[in-house]
Amino acid sequence: MRSPAQARIDLAAISHNVSLLRERAGGAEVMAMVKAEAYGHGLVPTARAALAGGATWLGVAKLAEALELRRAGVTGVRTLVCLGVPGEPYDEAIALDVDLTAGTPSLVEEIAAAAERAGRPARLQLEADTGMGRGGSTPADWAALVDAALKAEAAGHLRVVGLHSHFACADDPGHPSIASQIEVFKELVEHAEKAGIRPEVRHLSNSAAILTLPEARFDLVRPGIAMYGLTPVPALGTFGLRPAMTLTADTAVVKRAPAGSGVSYGHTYVTDRETNLALVPAGYGDGIPRHGSNLLEVFAGGRRRRIAGRVCMDQFVIDLGDDTLSAGDEIILFGPGDRGEPTAQEWADTLGTISYEIVTRIGTRVPRVYE
Ligand code: PLP
Repeated sequence: MRSPAQARIDLAAISHNVSLLRERAGGAEVMAMVKAEAYGHGLVPTARAALAGGATWLGVAKLAEALELRRAGVTGVRTLVCLGVPGEPYDEAIALDVDLTAGTPSLVEEIAAAAERAGRPARLQLEADTGMGRGGSTPADWAALVDAALKAEAAGHLRVVGLHSHFACADDPGHPSIASQIEVFKELVEHAEKAGIRPEVRHLSNSAAILTLPEARFDLVRPGIAMYGLTPVPALGTFGLRPAMTLTADTAVVKRAPAGSGVSYGHTYVTDRETNLALVPAGYGDGIPRHGSNLLEVFAGGRRRRIAGRVCMDQFVIDLGDDTLSAGDEIILFGPGDRGEPTAQEWADTLGTISYEIVTRIGTRVPRVYE
C-alpha cells in the first residue's frame, strides 16, 4: 500500500558520504552515528549502508538502539552506546557484545556488576567532559573515574577499550573552545594511559571536526549529520556530500476557491483572488514543523509554493493560483535540491533551527522507502 507521504532514502548517497568522510579522516576509523533512527533515515538500512561505505563502527545514543541493531542481525561490528545512564539492561548489552560508556565511578560499578551477572567482561569506554558541559567526567573527576575503571578491570569485570569526548563548537571554526578541548582531551588520555588504561580507540570528532580539524582525528571519528549528506557548517559549502532524504507527498485534492477564502485553522491565510488550493497530506503528526505555517516552501507542479495557512496534524494547503495539479501528483517537500525543491538546510534556515532537527523529526507514520 502506497502511503500519501514518503521519505525516500538514497542508501547509495549514505555509502558515498561515508566513504568521502573516511577519506577525509585520513587513517582514522569511522564510527557511523545512527542514533535516533539514523537521524530519521531508518536505523538498520542506514547502518548497513554506512558499513558498505567503509564505516567499521556504529554509534548510538541509547542502549535500546544498540539492542535493536543486534536483534536485526547487525552483529560482528563494534557498536558503542555513547550515552551513559544508570538503570539500563547492561547485562543484555554485554551479552550482545555492545561497547558501553561511563562517565562516573558509580556507573562503572553498575556496569561491572552487570558483567558479573552476564558472565563475561564488559567492553567499556570512558567519557570525558573536555568542555562540552554535558555528560562525561570533568577533568577534576577524571582520576576517580580512571581508578574505578582500573579496579573493575583488575577484578576481571571489564576492559576499558576506549576514551572519548565531544566537541561543543566544532561547527564554529576558530571558536576558542575547540583548541582547548583538544588539549584537555590529550591530557586526560595521557593521564589514563599512564595510570594503566590501554584503550583501543581515542575519539573526539563529529562531522564538523572531521571536515575542518585534521588535528582532532585521533584513532576514530564519529560522523552523524554529514553521513546523511547535510553539512554541519553550511557557510563552508557542501563538501561533495549528497543529501540522502527526499520527503514527498501525493496531492490529495485540488479545489477552486473564491477570493477571500480563509484557509486552515485560524484563517491565517486568506486567498486574495479566485484560486486553486491543493491539499498536501502531511502535517505536524508526520514531523512537518507547525512553525513552518505560511513560511516553508515545497516544490509542486514545477515550481516553489509556500505553505498557505497553518500546518495541521495530518495535512497542509498550498495555493496554486491558476496552475493546477491532479490528485496523486507528487509534491517534493524537501530533498537534495537538484530538481528545484528546497533542501532540509533551507527549511532549517527558514525556521531558525538546524538540518538535524528537520530530518530527525520526520515521524514514524511516514514510511521510509529505500532506493
Ligand atoms: N558523537 C556524539 C557523542 C554525538 O552525540 C553526536 C551527535 O550529536 C555525534 C558524534 C555526531 O555529531 P554530528 O551529527 O554533528 O556529526
